Amino acid sequence: MGNKHRVVILGGGFGGLYAAQALKRAPADVTLIDRRNFHLFQPLLYQVATGSLSPGEVAAPIRSVLSKQKNTQVLLGNVTDVDPGAKRIFLRDGGILEYDSLIVATGSRSSYFGHDEWHTWAPPLKTVEDATTIRHKILIAFEAAERTTDPVERNAWLTFVIVGAGPTGVELAGALGEIAHHTLKGDFRSIRPSDAKIIVLDAGPRLLPSYPETLSAHAVDSLRKLGAEVRTGLLVTHVDANGVATKTQEGTEDHIASHTVIWAAGVAVSEFGKQLATRTGAPTDKSGRIIVRPDLSVPNYPDIFVVGDLAYIPDQQGKPLPGVAQVAMQTGSYAARTIAARLKGGRKQKPFHYFNKGDLAVIGRFAAVANVFGFHLFGFPAWFVWLFIHLLYIVEFQSRVVVLIQWGFLYLTYNRGAMLITGSAATKSVKATAPLPAEDEV
Ligand SMILES: Cc1cc2nc3c(=O)[nH]c(=O)nc-3n(C[C@H](O)[C@H](O)[C@H](O)COP(=O)(O)OP(=O)(O)OC[C@H]3O[C@@H](n4cnc5c(N)ncnc54)[C@H](O)[C@@H]3O)c2cc1C
Repeated sequence: MGNKHRVVILGGGFGGLYAAQALKRAPADVTLIDRRNFHLFQPLLYQVATGSLSPGEVAAPIRSVLSKQKNTQVLLGNVTDVDPGAKRIFLRDGGILEYDSLIVATGSRSSYFGHDEWHTWAPPLKTVEDATTIRHKILIAFEAAERTTDPVERNAWLTFVIVGAGPTGVELAGALGEIAHHTLKGDFRSIRPSDAKIIVLDAGPRLLPSYPETLSAHAVDSLRKLGAEVRTGLLVTHVDANGVATKTQEGTEDHIASHTVIWAAGVAVSEFGKQLATRTGAPTDKSGRIIVRPDLSVPNYPDIFVVGDLAYIPDQQGKPLPGVAQVAMQTGSYAARTIAARLKGGRKQKPFHYFNKGDLAVIGRFAAVANVFGFHLFGFPAWFVWLFIHLLYIVEFQSRVVVLIQWGFLYLTYNRGAMLITGSAATKSVKATAPLPAEDEV
């Protein structure tokens, strides 16, 4: 690395990785820093949570993805602070990095709307650890139901509640339905896994609110076929070891007895995002996303770009772009191209424009809903598009072939290759009630 323009990229998710790749030929020294040594393909996390794929099949070491890119160094480190005046980044271990241009892509995290204590009982799905925690919780629930002789307890173990009816909630519910109705069929003696009750809750009026209404209705139908029920207009007021308390807008209260609650609801910005807003005085929306300028830079700091889930970017109608992989990829590449163009002393870049290729959510075997280029698809055609796109975007991964083989096997046989209860990740949240070994024995 020489004395070239120094571009530092924070985060190796979709935004950071695409930014780094777009700087491949730029006359710059690029440093990408992440606190994890791998890039995680979050859209397939639910498959880890439900035992179809193993963690290694949805993650790839950032270092190896970028190993051929000679102008780029990958560093492992947790970024905690920034001094935008001095153009410095501070790491938790005391390390300091200097930059000429900065691309911030530290993403988002789950939010419990001020009730972080619910996390213990209702894990979110954001990291690999979350996914294995959920897998642990789901599999233990069936084991505990098989062991208990108390019908009330059995019912609570066989009731699965997913809070949040967005794509993640829908995908989880569909996969759980398949586990209950097909994968575990015939495996138990005291219970019928297909008696499992899967309930998707949401405060809003309908499932998949960002999709056209007809597709929401198809998704509800597909879920029903898999034994999952959708309950909308319900606000969660409490979560603990014994289930979820809810309230309607009219004030009617209810309680669902369940030992397996999964959180697929709120999103807040990463910790570093908050710090960046404080240090730069940048405006934010109510979830903390940084309201960027049309070229994705932070107001008053033209050398700092914010991309992906952390950025608040209005579309032509003034509505914020959603927190999806496509937005992260396109914003990451755009910020990188802007820096490269500045280095060449070229013309000013046009403002960022999002090219929306559509939305997709998979519900189960050969069932999905898709809104692609204005075409509304459901059932097998939507599922096929979903399969094609996910394999296309998992290109960086050596595991693409493995994933395809796994899926082929899964779809033909309903078998799930990664249904193992490993680690003790979720034991804390089940040990209070489960008739199972203590944490250190699991
Ligand atoms: C379960 C789930 C399913 C999803 N499904 C879909 C889908 O089907 N289709 C779709 O388009 N989108 C989907 N999304 C959304 C999509 O994954 C995100 O929009 C996208 O990952 C955002 O990219 P990003 O680069 O902004 O952040 P991320 O991909 O989250 O990357 C952020 C990176 O920054 C790192 N980082 C954070 N803080 C620090 C720090 N302080 N120091 C160092 N490193 C740090 C993290 O380790 C991470 O690698 C899904 C998300 C989830 C959670």
